[in-house]
Amino acid sequence: MAKEDLECSFCGRKKPETNLLIAGLDAHICDRCIEQAHGIVIEESKQTDKSNLSAELMLKKPQQIKAFLDEYIIGQEYTKRIMSVAVYNHYKRLLQAKTDDDVEIQKSNIIIVGETGTGKTLIAKTIARMLNVPLAIVDATVLTEAGYVGEDVESILTRLLQVADYNLEKAEKGIVFIDEIDKIARKSDNPSITRDVSGEGVQQALLKLLEGTIVNVPPKGGRKHPDQKFIEVNTENILFIAGGAFNGMDRFISKRLNMSAIGYKASHVEDGLDKDNLLQYITPKDLKDFGLIPEIIGRLPVLTYMNALDAVTLRAILTEPKNAIIKQYVKLFAMDDIELTITEGALGFIVEKAVEYKLGARGLRSLCEKVLTDAMFYLPGTYETKLNVTKSYAEGKLTKTLLKKLKAVS
Ligand code: ADP
Repeated sequence: MAKEDLECSFCGRKKPETNLLIAGLDAHICDRCIEQAHGIVIEESKQTDKSNLSAELMLKKPQQIKAFLDEYIIGQEYTKRIMSVAVYNHYKRLLQAKTDDDVEIQKSNIIIVGETGTGKTLIAKTIARMLNVPLAIVDATVLTEAGYVGEDVESILTRLLQVADYNLEKAEKGIVFIDEIDKIARKSDNPSITRDVSGEGVQQALLKLLEGTIVNVPPKGGRKHPDQKFIEVNTENILFIAGGAFNGMDRFISKRLNMSAIGYKASHVEDGLDKDNLLQYITPKDLKDFGLIPEIIGRLPVLTYMNALDAVTLRAILTEPKNAIIKQYVKLFAMDDIELTITEGALGFIVEKAVEYKLGARGLRSLCEKVLTDAMFYLPGTYETKLNVTKSYAEGKLTKTLLKKLKAVS
């Protein structure tokens, strides 16, 4: 067949009418048909993405969500349960047909109260990973009311857009973790102007984001200015999780518990109360007493708490989670063909120091790093194939001065 007689097997155009005609085994395809087919592939994959999201979300029941969280987070049983249900309900809400009936499922935004380093961020991260949705982690302390130095609350959504690679549809189903929410509490006994700028005003500004509305978001962040282009982000299906240490919250809780005792037999309240872990009795009223405005509390209807980490939990955190710190080091050494083992005594010593110097779970990593740095420096490239870290090896690396330094930076 003459070259000019060749034709596209899809649209029938002759070779001279095309820019390019690609030959297959016994068929040809022209440039236009390739482009069209490419468009279809893109469109199809978008559809599959969408149905994948729905399918995945529908598949994960609360117990499965909890089982996933169990793989990464030690303890914190209550919060894992509460969060599994809240997340499940949130995504059920997302999948509900718009015109079903008059019952509209409200958002189940979450607020987690707990000391720093107890796993609040970790829970948010794990949920985002499980659902494969974008997660923005933002710090409430940098937020200010519009017009003041600092970031507008809209910058939260800029972050979400960035982690979603500016895919609006994905961002609008994402999760935002607002850390240090307690730092924007109103301090009634300290009515200084600076306090208020980052306090109640920010809470007010956050309200509309939390409840679900369309927000004009500057795509690159920064302050808003008149001739800037905005992306409209609908926050209706974004799940907000707020976290904070709420230092001093115990005072409000114990006060409330004692007050409610008036008029009852005191033993009612005393009985069965775990004084060492008062956070478990937290109610929305305590958040209000602490200085969150009622409107914010109303928009974070799921309230939960984190337990402080004791030695047993810290020990488990070292080795049990799916990507536990020790597992990570074993893998790092294995890449140099070195088998790392750590004795129970050494692990116990690391935990003991984390407790003694109040370094928490975050400190475990720094402690392990200090114990293993020399070995990670010297062993690669040698003929060593084994490293056994014993208690005395760990003791040798974690000197008193070093521990004090760790304490100072934590
Ligand atoms: P928070 O947000 O409460 O300050 P993080 O979630 O940032 O605390 O926790 C810091 C680190 O400590 C985590 O990355 C994780 O390695 C470890 N960690 C804390 N709590 C737990 C836990 N319950 N289970 C497993 N790891 C934990």
